[in-house]
Amino acid sequence: MADLDRTLLATLLDGEQAAYTDRHPRSRMLFEEAGNLFGRVPMTWMNMWSGGFPLYLDSATGNRVTDVDGHTYVDFALGDTGAMAGHSPAATVAAVQRRAGQLGGITTMLPTADAQWVGAELERRFGMPLWSFTLSATDANRWAIRLARLATGRPKVLVFAYCYHGSVDEAFALPGPDGKAESRPGNVAPPVDLDLTTRVATWNDLASVEAALAHGDVAAVLTEPALTNIGIVLPEPGFLEGVRELATRYGALLVIDETHTFSAGWGGATREWGLAPDVFVIGKSIGGGIPCGAYGLSAEVAAAVTRHTEAGDADIVDVGGVGGTLAGNALSTAAMRATLGEVLTPEAFAHMTALASAFTEGVQATLDELDVPWSISRLGARAEYRFARPAPRTGEESAAAADDALDAYLHLAMANRGILMTPFHNMALMCPETSRDDVDLHTRTFREVVGALFA
Ligand code: PMP
Repeated sequence: MADLDRTLLATLLDGEQAAYTDRHPRSRMLFEEAGNLFGRVPMTWMNMWSGGFPLYLDSATGNRVTDVDGHTYVDFALGDTGAMAGHSPAATVAAVQRRAGQLGGITTMLPTADAQWVGAELERRFGMPLWSFTLSATDANRWAIRLARLATGRPKVLVFAYCYHGSVDEAFALPGPDGKAESRPGNVAPPVDLDLTTRVATWNDLASVEAALAHGDVAAVLTEPALTNIGIVLPEPGFLEGVRELATRYGALLVIDETHTFSAGWGGATREWGLAPDVFVIGKSIGGGIPCGAYGLSAEVAAAVTRHTEAGDADIVDVGGVGGTLAGNALSTAAMRATLGEVLTPEAFAHMTALASAFTEGVQATLDELDVPWSISRLGARAEYRFARPAPRTGEESAAAADDALDAYLHLAMANRGILMTPFHNMALMCPETSRDDVDLHTRTFREVVGALFA
């Protein structure tokens, strides 16, 4: 296996950093002028971009982004899935213009017929019969957890180490030395000790899931079908079936968060792999970039919630904690209808998945040729490389493979050569407009920049 030369990496990184700074004087100036923004950015996570300052957006269409210095990029970040339908897809833009402009009424507290259309479409894809809308996947997860606690009368959520489900307090947990949940490093001021709200298991380890569920206090297992926020860590054969069976056996609900894994196909991993969630969560992509999220309930979970609301011990209408004034607004439901109906179609998924396969083969060819100790994992239309070989099996193993200097080098080297990769990841996502030429550009560029490192 080829060894990583840290001195060479540092030299190459310096060179890419200098080129990045030189190429982007306007982005840099705007960043330096942004003194009224906390962290100089609209949201503090935008400081995750490598290079000391983020690129400033000028325009974007399809899978192309142009920055304020006039450079155009092939975008494999796609807003970390928010733009999986491509930037400003025509059908979504038309629906949004019609609702916001001709018809008017962006947010009125009144439903539109689009919401039922979207609910029916979500059932067709993911199987859940009853849907509610939010404005983010985080919020959808929060309501899913609340309703699971209500339906089961249990306090805790079981998550997997190194999961990410948005800014959901219960989910920032790792297993502590005594097996109890403890706060993940960096977690900002958790409201209560994580052990009060959370149990943590290890991905691909059914014994750890059973041990956590055996306490009898878990309302829901909250999981993605594959971990996608610590690299892509795929489930081993039988793992998800085992989680489903254990959840049922120990009286916990299964909440499947498909915010990222929707890339697996038209009906997400739930349809591709025949999962049977009790509650289903999705966000980011289904509005074509317009803020939205959704959670779907099984008939049984809905009935359990309704029993409590009818008995008067829970309020899902007024101030019971399930809400969001702008949730389900006319603009985001119009965007979801157009995006699901006309953009993220079965044909689009077939195209995107074929390209992600080609992307994966291209990366694997370089890894094989240069004997690089990394791996690449793919889930439908997304693929991600990780600095470990073989591919990690657990969140813990994948976390141990993190390498900030390598991340920075690869992200900057790609950006300097016209390719955007997702800042939190080495993730590449395909959208309907991504082309084989775009993938081939990445394949060549990856060979060049990895070749310089493992010369
Ligand atoms: N669930 C998963 C699996 C995610 O990856 C994310 C965000 N990366 C979220 C939920 C939260 O999405 P949002 O930040 O849009 O609320």
